[in-house]
Amino acid sequence: MKNIYEMMNNSELLESARNKILFTAERPEIIMDHGKGMYLWDTEGKSYLDFIGGWAVTCLGHCPDVMKNTLIEQADRLINASPSYYNKPMLQFARLLTDYSCFDRVFFTSSGAEANEGAIKLARKYGSKYLNGAYEIITTVNGFHGRTLATMSATGKKHWEALFAPKVSGFIHVPFNDINSVLKVVNEKTCAIMLEPIQGEGGVNTADTGYIQSLRKICDDNGILLIFDEIQTGLGRTGKLFAYEHYGIEPDIMTLAKGIGGGYPLSAMLTKEKFNVFEPGDQGGTYSAQPLGMAVGFAVVNEIIEKKLPQKAEIMGQYIFDRLFEIKEKYGFENIRGKGLLLAFDIKNEKGPEIVNECLKKGLLLNSPKSSSIRLMPPLVVQKEDVDNMICVLESVLQKVF
Ligand SMILES: *Cc1c(COP(=O)(O)O)cnc(C)c1O
Repeated sequence: MKNIYEMMNNSELLESARNKILFTAERPEIIMDHGKGMYLWDTEGKSYLDFIGGWAVTCLGHCPDVMKNTLIEQADRLINASPSYYNKPMLQFARLLTDYSCFDRVFFTSSGAEANEGAIKLARKYGSKYLNGAYEIITTVNGFHGRTLATMSATGKKHWEALFAPKVSGFIHVPFNDINSVLKVVNEKTCAIMLEPIQGEGGVNTADTGYIQSLRKICDDNGILLIFDEIQTGLGRTGKLFAYEHYGIEPDIMTLAKGIGGGYPLSAMLTKEKFNVFEPGDQGGTYSAQPLGMAVGFAVVNEIIEKKLPQKAEIMGQYIFDRLFEIKEKYGFENIRGKGLLLAFDIKNEKGPEIVNECLKKGLLLNSPKSSSIRLMPPLVVQKEDVDNMICVLESVLQKVF
């Protein structure tokens, strides 16, 4: 089977892609083959400078030795022991995450949506046990929490509202950064407020400090939980190990995914001892805390901490910001925003998709979360030279497109 695919030329491979992969997204006619550091290469040998970073996932760059070596070593020792037993990598990883955050306990799983499902269930469990059955969760317009039915229901995307009815009920969407709208909807049925400190998919919108501090107060006053979805903002992305550190508060639950595995499918839900309220059977999963993933996650997060990547993200983020600022007037950028290496800017004429497409042709990967904006989320190991190369390609494209 393998040999057939190795012998195929590119058009045969693309034919197979068109016929065999369930259609869920428009993808460019490219087949990625290998990667190293900041670069990906396709089957034709063309290279791409990666400012999408596997969707804010490949924080250590592509195929870092520390991941490769850990995968090999752990695969030699134990890949999966069943979710019924503890394993050493899981204990070591949970210890690392709790030592470096404000949380006491961790539940591990494989994807961001699953971690958020766990957070939603934990908040509802707490509501059923301690808040007279309160179950409503307040979330934000333009927030993004995943693609399972409950996390789609929590998500605040306008055009998702009509999809896959009936949705999971009990989610109340309020405008982001607007504390009064939260005060209006909190009631005795509310068990939690859930949000991203910086909305990633929503276009890189940063929560104000006053807003987050007021949310913390509302939660304290009402005895309800504050849930931070740090799936995109966590693990150094915004210049701190966790984005909640920017706000001088502690959430009650935090979810992590994307960068936590550096590309290996992995996620975590962290909480405090007070909310350690699940009973046997309430939560679980076949792949929860399997040793291979735990060993890789530990190695990735350890590397982020030891190499001081959050601080580097802040410095390089500032450098990208400055370089964008230099060419802002020339191309009419507006609203350059974000923190660390989660950045975006608005462009005129809704030409985001066209810019992304032209950059792709020139070997640069960028993302356009909305047609009027461009988002940058490179690996945390990005260097000045990579930024200069990115700006150079971007400028040549902007000269052509505008
Ligand atoms: C990507 C993302 C998710 C979903 O994670 P998956 O691994 O795709 O399930 C949830 N929340 C935020 C903030 C995200 O960026």
